[in-house]
Amino acid sequence: MSASDAVPAHPAYGVLREVTPFASVLLCDNSGMMELDGTNTYVLRAPGSDECVVVDPGPPKYKHHARRLAELPGVALTLITHRHFDHTGGVKRLHKRTGAPVRARLGEFCRNAEPLRDREVIEVAGLRITVLHTPGHTGDSVSFLVEHEDQRAVLTGDTILGSGTTVLDPSDGGLRDYLNSLNRLIVEGEGAALLPAHGPDHPDLVPVARFYKAHREERIDQIVAALDDMGVSPHEAKPMKVVRRVYSDVDKKLWPAARMSVKAQLEYLREA
Ligand SMILES: [Zn+2]
Repeated sequence: MSASDAVPAHPAYGVLREVTPFASVLLCDNSGMMELDGTNTYVLRAPGSDECVVVDPGPPKYKHHARRLAELPGVALTLITHRHFDHTGGVKRLHKRTGAPVRARLGEFCRNAEPLRDREVIEVAGLRITVLHTPGHTGDSVSFLVEHEDQRAVLTGDTILGSGTTVLDPSDGGLRDYLNSLNRLIVEGEGAALLPAHGPDHPDLVPVARFYKAHREERIDQIVAALDDMGVSPHEAKPMKVVRRVYSDVDKKLWPAARMSVKAQLEYLREA
């Protein structure tokens, strides 16, 4: 086999790349600090099915990406993992081109369909898709457990990424919710592949979810220790001062994001 015959790996722009027998990814070229290599738009279809499901059609203003999705045969449903524009921006165009209903946790993104309910099971494109409400990154974040015969995968949106850590949106995200959601994915994701909305896919979700949880707990411990050193309570602590201590090993460009994270951790500790 020559290198050109090899299966493409992430990041593969402009290629509908198969990641499981029932899921392919089309990576959008909207790379950025928060988007990593870009948004992963997933296309779900059981082998031999005439229908497919598009998950997270990507950002606005990426017409070539939207066109590729609209041209897929049999788009029966669009699903949204959460409200951020790099996931929902393509909704309008795709709905206009395909007429397929759109479903999200928030009604404002739905088209010709009801908002997603926790634990709801959707049978479409020869697949069984279970909706798991996994708030933390945002309040409306959901994950999709997709099952076909004995194979499983979880589309985690931004709740678990293929690399790096998730930023908790200060407007409606939260660390307590987030840790509960990681626990939920550890329980529900047994034997499932991890298909994140940014970064590379992984064959096994649970170890990655456990790593995410351990990483958060480690940061919480570091913050408790830093507050101890600084002699301040979680109520009094200034987030940026904590960032300078705890995130000294992290690129300064990421400090604004780290500050949001620290704010969430301080809130978590205040509630404790
Ligand atoms: Zn997001």
